[in-house]
Amino acid sequence: MENENLLLKILGSIETLKKDQNELAAKFDNYKTQSNEEFKKLDERLKQSSDVKTQKYEAKDTTSKVVSDVQQSKIAPNSTKGTVTFLYPDRIVLTTYPDQFGIKPIPLKWAEFDPIARGPIVASRHPSSIKIRNAIGAYGGSYCVYRALAIAMGALDPNHRPDYRNTEPTIQIGPHRQWGIPNRIVSLDPFGHLTNSLFKSQIDQGIDIRPTIAITKAHMKLAEIENSVKSGKLRIDGNVVLNEMGELNVVKAAVEPVWYLPGVAARFGIDEGLLRRALFEDTGGMYPELITRPDLKIFLPPIGGLTVYIFGNPNYVSDPSKRLTLRVHDECNGSDVFGSDICTCRPYLIYGMEECVKEAQNGGSGVIVYFRKEGRALGEVTKYLVYNARKRATGGDTADNYFLRTDMRFQALMPDVLNWLGITKIDRMMSMSNMKHEAIVESGISISERVPIPDELIPPDSRVEIDAKIADGYFSTGKVPSKEDLSQVKGREWDDIQH
Ligand SMILES: [Zn+2]
Repeated sequence: MENENLLLKILGSIETLKKDQNELAAKFDNYKTQSNEEFKKLDERLKQSSDVKTQKYEAKDTTSKVVSDVQQSKIAPNSTKGTVTFLYPDRIVLTTYPDQFGIKPIPLKWAEFDPIARGPIVASRHPSSIKIRNAIGAYGGSYCVYRALAIAMGALDPNHRPDYRNTEPTIQIGPHRQWGIPNRIVSLDPFGHLTNSLFKSQIDQGIDIRPTIAITKAHMKLAEIENSVKSGKLRIDGNVVLNEMGELNVVKAAVEPVWYLPGVAARFGIDEGLLRRALFEDTGGMYPELITRPDLKIFLPPIGGLTVYIFGNPNYVSDPSKRLTLRVHDECNGSDVFGSDICTCRPYLIYGMEECVKEAQNGGSGVIVYFRKEGRALGEVTKYLVYNARKRATGGDTADNYFLRTDMRFQALMPDVLNWLGITKIDRMMSMSNMKHEAIVESGISISERVPIPDELIPPDSRVEIDAKIADGYFSTGKVPSKEDLSQVKGREWDDIQH
């Protein structure tokens, strides 16, 4: 009985707090509207006044000085306080609540096949979008931080709207059946490349809606491919391989992450609330709305995206009557760009590309998907720490100890891009990863053949990694090494040469 009374008391207090908070928010909004009005009036007055009059305001009022400075010299104001007020005239909104005054997110039905019924994804904190936005986070993935710097430096207007004329995709992707299957795509917006045309009327009304996917075409040139053309391993056909320099004709798409939180949670078999709490805590509390806005289901995380490279006719990628070769590759800057020999990443990537090119030349198509997910999603710092620990281990860098150090790799979200492309089957999968294989098959795409990296392409020092992976379940057409065999597979020691 006593407990019940106490509970009722607490509930009563919460109700009062909620009421107070709503009233306070309403007052703030009134105040904001007022001050905005005043700011506009002042701006108008300054525009109409002569230079002499502007000088008069300058002496009296810092706000008008800021405005007149900017109007006259077109640069951001000098005083820090003035700059902050000028760039961000509205009060700071630390977070929002679903039942807060004026909060009315644009309806969004994820996995709705009709994009208009699905609705646009609005993540912007722009004054005209903040109350109606239906997504947490910011456009641009990790690059939102650089955009913030540009704004703070005065190089970019905080309300800047990019000019999207002539940015339309160079090829058509979709719509594909998979776009409308619940939980089939949960980590990207399948309509992300069509935003400007689908939601033009809302954009014209001033709502800040941005594309999260872009599609273009290009030529690419790689030393290994040039060698393969020169040695006759690849033939010039003038369509996929353009010339004796090994230039390749390619269509590519860049994709930024857009997460549907209930779907992402389901993919990892965890509760949505737990996922939100973990994302909030381990991004240093960066996104309070993960906690305060359970009604917002979309999150644009500040992480790297992915790139798709298509060889051959892009329409063949989703055509089940055409053959498809595919490699899904996680970024490894040290090997991919700088040729480090401790792993097989670049050799496997180039081999995958060559096989994609051959498939395209034979009337099918080839796809490389490149994820900006460095070092098994640990980042390069952790990766190098692990390298050091491996090389300094007692008995040296042996394959039986390879998995002793942290491994956070996961592939559960990876197949989303394949479903976005409309892929239903893969004829040649250029990967030995059991995790990638399982994730793809589980997402409803069949794989006919798995193609391991040929032995002659494996750098000697990376035997440790590849043998450890094969023993752990990676696909191989060769012998699976035993624990005893693994202890004999040893990487190069550091003191082989003077560093
Ligand atoms: Zn690597």
